[in-house]
Amino acid sequence: MENGLLKKLSGLSRAAMHKGRSLLNKKAATGHIPQAGKKSEVLIVPAGEHSVTRKAIGRSALKVLDKLHEAGHSAYLVGGGVRDALVGLKPKDFDIATDASPETIRSLFRNSRIIGRRFRLVHVVYGREIIEVATFRAAHSKGAGGEIGAAGRIVRDNVFGSIEEDAYRRDFTVNALYYNIADDSVVDYVGGLADLESGTFRLIGDPLTRCAEDPVRVLRAVRLAAKLEFEIDPKTLSAMEQIATELKSTPPARLFEEVLKLFQGGYALRSFRSIREHDLLRFLFPLLDKRLKAGAPELEGMIDAALINTDKRVAAGKPITPAYLLAFMLWPDVEEYAMLDSEKGMPITDALQLAADSVLSTQLRITSIPRRFSGPMKEIWQMQPRLERLRGARALKLMEDRRFRAAYDFLCLRATVDDRLKESASWWTKVQTLPEEQRIDAAAKRPVALDIWPSDIGADVAPGEESAASATAGGPAKKKRRRRRRRKPAGDKGATPSS
Ligand code: ATP
Ligand code: MG
Repeated sequence: MENGLLKKLSGLSRAAMHKGRSLLNKKAATGHIPQAGKKSEVLIVPAGEHSVTRKAIGRSALKVLDKLHEAGHSAYLVGGGVRDALVGLKPKDFDIATDASPETIRSLFRNSRIIGRRFRLVHVVYGREIIEVATFRAAHSKGAGGEIGAAGRIVRDNVFGSIEEDAYRRDFTVNALYYNIADDSVVDYVGGLADLESGTFRLIGDPLTRCAEDPVRVLRAVRLAAKLEFEIDPKTLSAMEQIATELKSTPPARLFEEVLKLFQGGYALRSFRSIREHDLLRFLFPLLDKRLKAGAPELEGMIDAALINTDKRVAAGKPITPAYLLAFMLWPDVEEYAMLDSEKGMPITDALQLAADSVLSTQLRITSIPRRFSGPMKEIWQMQPRLERLRGARALKLMEDRRFRAAYDFLCLRATVDDRLKESASWWTKVQTLPEEQRIDAAAKRPVALDIWPSDIGADVAPGEESAASATAGGPAKKKRRRRRRRKPAGDKGATPSS
């Protein structure tokens, strides 16, 4: 136990941790320790006895906290920022809670805007960084700004209140810890510190009520517990199991936000596995869930590889596009539908288009996918047969496509489970390292995988152009080549370097 405890609180200095614990013990003896999830007195851990320091907080968040404080308001960092800093993780984003009203906050920061209906809050914008500043809220049942809908769900949550009330309306105990900019202390109303120490993920208050209020908390619990490597408290887990099916009636846009967090947090593999262990994938990607449940070890391997790749990129601070992972989640079905039409002789481009529309329309009933992602997903899919079978100039032209990188990565992952694609994938890997002149020759001679799809590509690629006939370089336009071919006598392959 002791070891687990030390490991979990690795973010605290040893001295601070022992002080922190003796503080917890003393309070417990006098009945002051907040009991996990139950209302009780506040526990305040002074500056220097915990690891949330000004240094651990981002510059922009500090600016906001300081300005609110200087203007005479109380201002606290709260949520994931405090939680992560306490366990020694780098906080992903910073949320601030204050007693200032949204209008006051708005007037203090030129670079801010009031957003949201369900939760009215203020975004303070610093370049690409957004700091969320919310006014303390009370329970939704306490005033005219709150509204409960069918099945006990919160529809509006805009009743302002005290910091203590604000703590109780948050979701999990470890998410309701506050760092006070006035004296650098950490404030705990709900037993969050004790749960951080024991590595427990627990809903605040009555688990069933709190889960029913907002079924998305089921997904949040699984994702965040996976991130922190915490155990979900048994009562919280049982409420989650009872409420999970309510995810079916969650607005698609909200579920999509959760999917993004799942993929982009830097713990995509762990979160995805946990989502599957808790049998929640059916509420996010039902088509994929069906396949995985039917047993598809190769698909599992491919998805794991894509998720590992994503986590590595996040860790290295590289940009990731959700389109790439989303394209993966839906590809097995897109491929299967398109293959059926291709077998009937439909050109692959058309077959993929139809399949993409059909699979996306099923998925959009569950999670929204904004066009800025579905567009690139379709492009990645459409590029697959081209990467497999185009030669010569047409092949080289693909490298100029803005989706080339993602589509090439996609092909490489497909190749890890489909031997027929291995040669193509390694050819693309190699050709990118070649100098310009050698590429032309390599592209003319490249081995292609013509055995994946039964039909031709179609669209602007004429049958036969996919292989030998297009073994040329120099970027010929399709019309020019066709015209020229008509004029040349039969038997001419048009393989002149200048074509
Ligand atoms: P991360 O940002 O690492 O994903 P987080 O806990 O900071 O995790 P956010 O979505 O940024 O998650 O939310 C910030 C805080 O707002 C949470 O820590 C929690 O206190 C509160 N919160 C978020 N979503 C809910 C919810 N559905 N119900 C109640 N409180 C919530
Ligand atoms: Mg956060």
